[in-house]
This record gives sequence, structure tokens and C-alpha cells, in this order.
Amino acid sequence: MICITAFLICTIFIHPGFAGDVTGRIVCIDPGHQNQGNSTPEPIGPGATQTKPCVSSGTSGALSGPEHVVNLDVGLRLHDILTSHGIIVVMTRTTGNVDLCNSTRAGIANMAKADLFVRLHCNSGSSNSCFTLYPTNIPEWTDDIYEESLKAAQLFQTAYSQYVDIPDAGLTPRSDISGFNWSDVPVILPEMLHMQNPNHDLLASTPDFRQKMAEGCAAGIIEYLKTLPPKPGYARISMCY
Ligand SMILES: [Zn+2]
Repeated sequence: MICITAFLICTIFIHPGFAGDVTGRIVCIDPGHQNQGNSTPEPIGPGATQTKPCVSSGTSGALSGPEHVVNLDVGLRLHDILTSHGIIVVMTRTTGNVDLCNSTRAGIANMAKADLFVRLHCNSGSSNSCFTLYPTNIPEWTDDIYEESLKAAQLFQTAYSQYVDIPDAGLTPRSDISGFNWSDVPVILPEMLHMQNPNHDLLASTPDFRQKMAEGCAAGIIEYLKTLPPKPGYARISMCY
């Protein structure tokens, strides 16, 4: 009998972890709304007596259709772009056929320990602008995510507005958004365009512009992720022979 013992020699690649590296960062994308709104009241934050509907139905464009469909299409395109950069993407939904309260959506981002929670929306109204919501500083709710959320909102809004060439209406702090107050991770909510603006509506009806919206979102998200402190290095076995 011949006995052969094989000894494997492996190459171990040490990934140092360096500033500006977005590989392995975690982004939770929440395409706003769903097929059917759900008006069941939910507290606007942990322990709150004030309530808001669990999830509203959103707006719509004459040409571009329901907001929740546009948000999802842009969200799925954004998923693919971020993934191509080595970013780990968690989607709150990949279909309209869900029943997800805004607090539940925040819970998904919390569970994922997302570096950034991005809630994609299109606004109602006809303004030729885009803007981004971020949480106000509320003790025990958002005080721990306020600064990073504001920084992310600033970087996102500038990059997105420039990329899609929609005038920049800046940032809007909000204290009453359940999906902010239940979030334990930095969170922003871009209103990417206005669905009753005829030009925005026309643009949002085309796959090309939805792709551009996703690319603009990715540019803003990556700008923010690059500002995060480097992750500790890690070792990875890359080849054995
Ligand atoms: Zn919306």
C-alpha cells in the first residue's frame, strides 16, 4: 500500500484596511412605500405616544407611474452599482408586494449594522429641485446618529444634485420621521425629484434617467463611505497549492 500525504502551502493575503476603502462597507437601501399603504398607527419612535401611519402609499407621476415603483427600480439599480464596488447591500424590499412599516425598515438596517441607511423617495409637487431629509438631534433616539447622518446628507445631496443636474434645494431636518427615530445607524432620505414637475416626470419615466439617478445616489453614498475611519485589517487565504 502506498500512502501519500499532501501538504498544502497557502498564500495568505493581508488586507491592511486603509482610509477611503469602501470594500466590505454595508449599505441598507429602502425603496420608499409599497404596492398598498398601511395606515395602522405606529409610534414615531421608541416609547413615543405620537403615532404616524405604518407606511404611506406615496405619490405618482402622470408618465412615470407610482412612486414606489420608481423608488424600487432606482434602488435595484443602485444595489448593482454599489455591489460592483465591493459594498455589501441589504435591501428592505425587492418587490412592491410587501407590508413593511417604516419602523420595520429601520429595524432591517439596524440588524444589518449598516454603515448607512438610505431611504429612496420622490417628492410630490412640481418644484424643479431635489433635497435630502436627515434626522434632528433627539436625545435617546437620534443623538447617536445625528452627526454622521448630517454629514452623509450633505455629501449625498451635493453629489446627487450635480450628477443628475437637478437644482439643489439643500437639506431638511425632520423630527417626526419614524424611519429615522427607530434607526440606530446613520440615515438619510433623499427626495430625488418631484413627480408632478413635467420634466422630472418625463425623465423618471425612462430607464436611462433612472440609471442616472442610481449612479448619482451611488456617487453620494461612496463619497460618505470614504470618510469613515479605516476598518481593522483582516487576513484572507487567497491561494493554496
Ligand atoms: Zn415617498
